[in-house]
Amino acid sequence: MNYLSTRGHPDRKRFCEILLEGLAPDGGLYLPEHYPQVDTATLAKWRELPYAELAFEILSLYIDDIPPADLKAICARTYTAEVFGSDEIVPLRELEDGVYLEALSNGPTLAFKDMAMQLLGNLFEYELARRGAELNILGATSGDTGSAAEYAMRGKKGVRVFMTSPDGRMSPFQQAQMFSLQDQNIHNIAISGVFDDCQDIVKAVSNDLGFKRKYRIGTVNSINWARLLAQVVYYFAGYFQATASNDKPVSFTVPSGNFGNVCAGHVARMMGLPIQTLVVATNENDVLDEFFRTGIYRVRAAADTHETSSPSMDISKASNFERFVFDLVGRDAGRLRSLFVDDLGRQGRFDLSADPAFRQAAERFGFKSSRSTHADRLATIRDTDKRFATLVDPHTADGLKAAREHLAPGVPMVVLETALPIKFAATLVEALGHEPARPAKFEGIEALPKRVVKLPADAEAVKAYIAQNCD
Ligand SMILES: *Cc1c(COP(=O)(O)O)cnc(C)c1O
Repeated sequence: MNYLSTRGHPDRKRFCEILLEGLAPDGGLYLPEHYPQVDTATLAKWRELPYAELAFEILSLYIDDIPPADLKAICARTYTAEVFGSDEIVPLRELEDGVYLEALSNGPTLAFKDMAMQLLGNLFEYELARRGAELNILGATSGDTGSAAEYAMRGKKGVRVFMTSPDGRMSPFQQAQMFSLQDQNIHNIAISGVFDDCQDIVKAVSNDLGFKRKYRIGTVNSINWARLLAQVVYYFAGYFQATASNDKPVSFTVPSGNFGNVCAGHVARMMGLPIQTLVVATNENDVLDEFFRTGIYRVRAAADTHETSSPSMDISKASNFERFVFDLVGRDAGRLRSLFVDDLGRQGRFDLSADPAFRQAAERFGFKSSRSTHADRLATIRDTDKRFATLVDPHTADGLKAAREHLAPGVPMVVLETALPIKFAATLVEALGHEPARPAKFEGIEALPKRVVKLPADAEAVKAYIAQNCD
């Protein structure tokens, strides 16, 4: 399998070449040259497989530069009941007639990002050892991504993590999750500033090409193709659990921010998994809902990006969206460039409302969308507690609300549960008056010793810290 850039760069790459990279050299995103097709006989075989073996089968279609036995071992090491809490890895439960929750949040940091990041940690360690190379991952986090990356990379050979976060602005639980890690290769850097300062520092360091090369700086952000690929697997696993045979359609609702998760659903659907509808659920930051309703994609300024109670969906633009638009315009890289480089680059928006391609988003690709507010989240959390004695986190609540707006008779609707409620306890308290139960392994983590350095919001200070800690 070869990978191309959405913006038309002539080079073609293999999986392990793009594994450790971010954007393509022309600023585009990597996609496979084609989507492998899965027929009903294959689906029938896959239905019987445990999760790790299903992951191996799907990954094998996209990765041909790791020997199969090694890839199989990596999948087996990654998707264990010990790490993800059950043999099913992503157990499905029926909430009410036809509405299901797929549990993706029982990994080490209690959010779905573990599903991909745990695999990435093992792939990175494998590939770096093979090359005899090292990588220093530099990131900025306000919560979920940073902790998932740290738990995936802790103790891994050849990898160090330098994770910046805004000092004092994460929830005590999230701080404790990250700062209690004592692994020598994990570095927490609390920046006196806000999340945007952290992101600016990461950009500034990455733009210093000399420094970047010398210290082998890399990232693990959501545009990484391997992360997206890992997420394709649980659409198949969810489908098999929601159906008894492979001729039944299923729909999915996905709490969305950077469009990584739901883009994996799009890939699964393109491979031939019988997905009827992909519902994109957004919060007040409704860039994506606006596009699917109107055909206009309009990125927001920082001042127009709201801080909400589903903070992992607070985005001003959706960094993976370009992948879907590439398919939507018939994989025409020239057209894609004119939308993302010319229109978006100059005016901060593009408009497909009058383009026949826009209708395809729903008709051919099955996309629908909805938007929720803080009041909707509270109402959904209360209603789900009262009627089903189930606690959901605010992001999953956004999903449930959206799902109910797009139900079709006879078609199971699977809502992806993207975090456990304990991660967002303050909103649960607001909705219900009490804290959600905490998994035993997180009892008392706030009291554990913390490993963190405080630095000013200054890229030079962060560079100096990295240099000191890379010997
Ligand atoms: C990251 C995240 C999302 C958004 O996922 P995308 O892949 O960025 O669309 C939703 N919910 C939670 C809890 C998250 O951590």
